[in-house]
Amino acid sequence: MNNAKTAVVVGAGLGGLALAIRLQASGIRTTLLERRDQPGGRAYVYRDQGFTFDAGPTVITDPSAIEALFTQAGRPMGDYLELLPVSPFYRLCWEDGRAFDYGNDQQDLERQIATFAPADVEGYRRFLAYSRAVLDEGYIKLGAVPFLSFRDMLHAGPQLARLQAWRSVYDMAAKYISDDQLRQAFSFHALLVGGNPFATSSIYTLIHALERQWGVWFPKGGTGALVNGMAKLFTDLGGTLEVNAEVAAFETAGSRLTGVRTRDGRVFAADAVASNADVVHTYSDLLGQHPRGRQEGERLKGKRFSNSLFVIHFGLKRPQPQLQHHTVCFGPRYRELVQEIFDGPKLPDDFSLYLHSPCATDPSLAPPGCSSHYVLAPVPHLGNAPLDWGVEGPRYRDKILDYLERHYMPGLREDLVTCRIFSPRDFREQLNAHLGSAFSLEPRLTQSAWFRPHNRDAQLANLYLVGAGTHPGAGVPGVIASAKATAGLMLEDLQG
Ligand SMILES: Cc1cc2nc3c(=O)[nH]c(=O)nc-3n(C[C@H](O)[C@H](O)[C@H](O)COP(=O)(O)OP(=O)(O)OC[C@H]3O[C@@H](n4cnc5c(N)ncnc54)[C@H](O)[C@@H]3O)c2cc1C
Repeated sequence: MNNAKTAVVVGAGLGGLALAIRLQASGIRTTLLERRDQPGGRAYVYRDQGFTFDAGPTVITDPSAIEALFTQAGRPMGDYLELLPVSPFYRLCWEDGRAFDYGNDQQDLERQIATFAPADVEGYRRFLAYSRAVLDEGYIKLGAVPFLSFRDMLHAGPQLARLQAWRSVYDMAAKYISDDQLRQAFSFHALLVGGNPFATSSIYTLIHALERQWGVWFPKGGTGALVNGMAKLFTDLGGTLEVNAEVAAFETAGSRLTGVRTRDGRVFAADAVASNADVVHTYSDLLGQHPRGRQEGERLKGKRFSNSLFVIHFGLKRPQPQLQHHTVCFGPRYRELVQEIFDGPKLPDDFSLYLHSPCATDPSLAPPGCSSHYVLAPVPHLGNAPLDWGVEGPRYRDKILDYLERHYMPGLREDLVTCRIFSPRDFREQLNAHLGSAFSLEPRLTQSAWFRPHNRDAQLANLYLVGAGTHPGAGVPGVIASAKATAGLMLEDLQG
């Protein structure tokens, strides 16, 4: 492999890892540089007093996309990773005491829907059929196709029009389903990828069909085990992974990149460079010395960015058998709350929460007899609510823990062994995320596909993007699909 072409991938998030695997497996000598002390990015892992906390993604969908990475590398996934099924997928709860266990059993789903509104059973069947059609067009056919020219967008136009992609996720759920709580149940998914259900294209209803098609999974040992499995696959293939290696700038010669320079002054020469880092950071900071970087960075700053998240990781000295693995706790408001989360200007007084209780699937994530959890509240990003999270964070943490104790986890405060928070400020400072956004550019139709930053830069021929900020977008299946799209372009350019 001595004369092999070389690539540097900046950032070892799941998108960066997936791209690095694809390149290395195809004979490109690949170096993956990560600024933090572990790979994973948003899928970082904290460990404390025997508790393991996954920082980010916990709902693992489309395992076939993950398996494809191992297959391409010629290694059995089972040697690296075990995926456990999660059932029900989620328990959805409202303050009036109603609950909906959402899973993959059609009969059981219909039975539960009938208890909310009998007429919605038929509506749900039609919603599911619609969502399946979108999955086929939007994810299976177009998810890993790079939209480099407007012509590509025009080609997709008739399908997008047929699927009424200009309508919002909520609009589409409401077209088929009449019950207010069920409308929430079948539209909140957009929030999982940083989308406002009332503004995000109805294309994102495909998440529902995606879950129904391939199920919801959890890696044994936590999402960190997925990260470690991917990192090990990459290094087993001969790739070089360096952590604590922050890239400070790209090296350029005219309209090409020649490599990258790390903060400690090392230069890594490469035939191609791909960035998995935040797109504004990539252009404004890493390419800030080049006119293209300054111009594109400024353009991107004018886009709409997804909300941020406030996350509390906590360990308890007791198990919580009343909880399912994934619980969505809807607060008293939906539409108004979502609007405040996406537009600010302040922290809403109420919240809707996602509660992660992984010991329901894998008790090894806490010491015997204990349980580990995280709870997150979507909050405005720092551009929409420039709060001092050093002050607000502890207050907000207490408010959320009190709420959980009252509604879901009696005795929580007394059982607390360990607790840490991750705020919008941490997204900005630890992940270089523009405005502390948790999911990069907001997934609206006008910021999707060709309208999203492209997988290959339009002017610098050997600069590529991978991850949440490029096509198709955020979420584990999204960033893994982006790696497939970007790898296709890079291999064509490097080997063609
Ligand atoms: C709390 C939370 C929960 C989520 N839950 C789910 C879920 O359940 N299911 C799901 O599908 N999705 C979920 N998501 C979304 C999903 O996690 C992300 O969209 C996805 O992991 C982002 O991957 P990425 O490839 O864009 O890289 P990122 O995770 O953004 O990683 C980018 C990496 O680049 C590094 N970096 C930045 N700048 C530099 C630099 N200058 N030099 C070197 N390295 C640099 C960063 O340190 C980071 O490691 C969740 C997200 C969050 C935050």
